[in-house]
Amino acid sequence: ADLEKRSDIIAAVATPPGRGGIGIVRVSGKNLQPFAEAMLGSLPKPRYACFSKFYDENEQVIDQGIALYFPAPHSYTGEDILELQGHGGPVIMNLLMARCLSVGARLAQPGEFTLRAYLNNKLDLVQAESVADIIEASTSEAARCAMRSLQGAFSATIDSLVRLIIELRVIIEATLDFPEEEIDILQSMQVGHQLAVIQDQLEQVLIASRQGSLLQEGIKVVLVGQPNVGKSSLMNQLAEEEIAIVTEIPGTTRDTIQQTIKIEGVPIHIIDTAGLRKTDDIVEKKGIERTQAAIQKADMLLLLLDSNATDNSSNHEILNNLPASLPRLIIYNKIDLLNIDPGIENKADQVIIHLSAKTGAGITLLRQKLLEMAGWQSNNAGEGLFMARQRHLQALMAAKTHLENARLLMENNYQLELLAEELRCSQTALATIMGEFTADDLLGEIFSHFCIGK
Ligand code: GDP
Ligand code: ZN
Repeated sequence: ADLEKRSDIIAAVATPPGRGGIGIVRVSGKNLQPFAEAMLGSLPKPRYACFSKFYDENEQVIDQGIALYFPAPHSYTGEDILELQGHGGPVIMNLLMARCLSVGARLAQPGEFTLRAYLNNKLDLVQAESVADIIEASTSEAARCAMRSLQGAFSATIDSLVRLIIELRVIIEATLDFPEEEIDILQSMQVGHQLAVIQDQLEQVLIASRQGSLLQEGIKVVLVGQPNVGKSSLMNQLAEEEIAIVTEIPGTTRDTIQQTIKIEGVPIHIIDTAGLRKTDDIVEKKGIERTQAAIQKADMLLLLLDSNATDNSSNHEILNNLPASLPRLIIYNKIDLLNIDPGIENKADQVIIHLSAKTGAGITLLRQKLLEMAGWQSNNAGEGLFMARQRHLQALMAAKTHLENARLLMENNYQLELLAEELRCSQTALATIMGEFTADDLLGEIFSHFCIGK
């Protein structure tokens, strides 16, 4: 991606495809006056909703609606922005876009408006990412977390950590000039204590970030079991509504590849392995391949057995084809038929739960265990979490490692140059979160996942 700071005119339909009451075309560029004059007859009054006609090159009216003009620098992108709200039909939107292009705009790339906002220092990288997260959010908890990030909560926390590290670096780097007294000085400045404070705060951020990332991304669970053991029934119980089709004909779930249920807001993506059986059927073979690919990315394995069954041999065959490192949870279903109580056995290498997908007995045990194995802490209830992405977690982990190295150096006779270097690296790692020192290809990767028009 070519991310040099550009200010040519970009345009995109900002509303989703299809028909709706209103369709919005968004335009951003360095100077939109000629553009607005060509399309609207005149530049609208800044920050007023102006009822306007949108003209084509023959001065015929394409549509009429509201024009909004936000002059630079007080706009989302920091450039001139023009928003045209017309009738929300695909033909009108296409005509308006075609007109925009003929007046000198080009089609915006995904996330390009937000990229410009970032390059013009309207947002830091965390805030820019949170814009995409808000749009992508699949739970209200995730949306709330992302909103807090957009308002700067995550950035402010990282920023305060960076400041603490800078303070420490200033003390240590100043001391480098006084080799005789350095250790005395550092001890009197309590650098050991200050480092501990920073490490502790970073740890808190990491915890809140891991939980937030769980809320955003959830966990992938592979559901394994022979036909008729009750996989679909279990999914329905967990989902508390009828999603999967329950049927008594073996092998009919093969089109259900993945379903997402939510427990305490945490998305649990359950991959049904109905398609894992050996088959010559071409359609079914495709299903098996897709399922296998999904399994490679799974976090956990759920094996469902019928408490009444005597022969579990084909389960072993299925299990042997799954990665041995996957944490597993074994469920004995249909306890209602045996008249036994639900229960859980926590063994060293596996957990076994006895339940009934039909009556719901024992389902609570399963829900709690799923959350526990996912690493979710129920009491945090979504408040104070950070919607961290994988990239943020990696940067936080790197910063943590450098701080630990600094700690070791401090305990080993204060090798000051090395200590200063570790602190510098830790600071750099944190700064990448907000987009300082961030490589263009990473930016390209981040913004390519945005939708067009944002
Ligand atoms: P799947 O093929 O593994 O998805 O199994 P289904 O969920 O379609 O269930 C197969 C049959 O077993 C259906 O008739 C269900 O009603 C029945 N079933 C599922 N779970 C239970 C249970 O816990 N108790 C009893 N008695 N029947 C169950
Ligand atoms: Zn089924």
